[in-house]
Amino acid sequence: MSDRHFAGPDGDGGDGAAFEAKALVDGCTMCRACVRECAFLQRYGTPGDLAGRFLAAQAPQEAVNPYACSLCALCGAVCPEGLSPERFFLELRRMAVRRGSVSLRPYGRLLAYEARGRSPWLAWRRIPSGCRTVFFPGCALPGTHSQAVRRLVRALREADPSVGIVLDCCIKPSHDLGRHEFFQSAFLPLVAFLEKQGVRRVLTACPSCHKVFRTYATGLETVTVWETEGLGRLLAAGTVSGDVLVHDPCPYREVPEAREAVRRAVRRLGLSVREPKRAGDRTLCCGEGGAVGSVSPDLARRWAERRKAEADGGVVVTACAGCTAFLRRSGLKAVHLADFIQDPVRAAHGRTLAAGSPRTYWNRWRLKKSLIKIYGAP
Ligand code: SF4
Ligand code: SF4
Repeated sequence: MSDRHFAGPDGDGGDGAAFEAKALVDGCTMCRACVRECAFLQRYGTPGDLAGRFLAAQAPQEAVNPYACSLCALCGAVCPEGLSPERFFLELRRMAVRRGSVSLRPYGRLLAYEARGRSPWLAWRRIPSGCRTVFFPGCALPGTHSQAVRRLVRALREADPSVGIVLDCCIKPSHDLGRHEFFQSAFLPLVAFLEKQGVRRVLTACPSCHKVFRTYATGLETVTVWETEGLGRLLAAGTVSGDVLVHDPCPYREVPEAREAVRRAVRRLGLSVREPKRAGDRTLCCGEGGAVGSVSPDLARRWAERRKAEADGGVVVTACAGCTAFLRRSGLKAVHLADFIQDPVRAAHGRTLAAGSPRTYWNRWRLKKSLIKIYGAP
């Protein structure tokens, strides 16, 4: 299934940006519904106005800094005209990379993280005979919650011994930074490999991986691991009590089944769900989206501050390792759903077992070693 809030057309030069800009110029009524929701637009102007200035100058830097946009797609979700301004900002990023007019030096750590996730040190895959489903846990969760990932793998294999495993990076950092050609050259061969092996379904744990697979691996069915029976077996029913606020990650804006699976899991544990004002397809970015914090930390913080006001000191549960880390750094009692697999009582009190860097790399390496043992000889 393609996602209208993600990928623009593959034009070269500024074609993609011009295409998206024309759509905004033609459709935007300047109603400011998106501006009311977004500090980035409050700084730069309405999408229609920005697109008009871009078309007049053909120079993105004269209209807006697209690297200050979180690519969260809330603007598209609230737009009464059905426009998708976030696609324009993504195309501006792609255009800047193609023209060499942006320095990616501020993202050096992020790109090194992506490269390590693809390296022989951390990447590994095993596709058992007859495999139709693989688990793709991504980079973040195996680092922060390696024990939970190991238990998920065991539970999935108990239900279906032919489930495969792929430890790799989905290349979302490069995708969002506008390195589109690199993204395609790195991600599409993985998809081709899986299809050639007969894989039909990918189980994801990370919302970003989920979005990448749904958008670019359209021949595969993509489902979150939180929707599988395996998770139910790992969450002991009724072990904790109280209420928690559920934070939906932006990539699940158009994936109601994933959002509902998280709420089901939380209720199964014995907790009641407190819905924030901004939830579901109107959810807020945690602040980490689009790597905005590397160039406009003030704008990144504004998102987390809104969520913090809604949480009002209570425990926040999310199914995204990136959101968990960013919200915690912003002073929220955020925990990952995987925390409940490892220690439900601790998690219900807002205490996470998430490891921090560089421990995360060690955890990923050890997870790979233990999965090689679990899977045995090929
Ligand atoms: S994608 Fe998010 S940050 Fe970017 S303009 Fe839209 S609402 Fe604002
Ligand atoms: S909500 Fe849509 S129509 Fe209104 S200003 Fe934003 S992009 Fe334009």
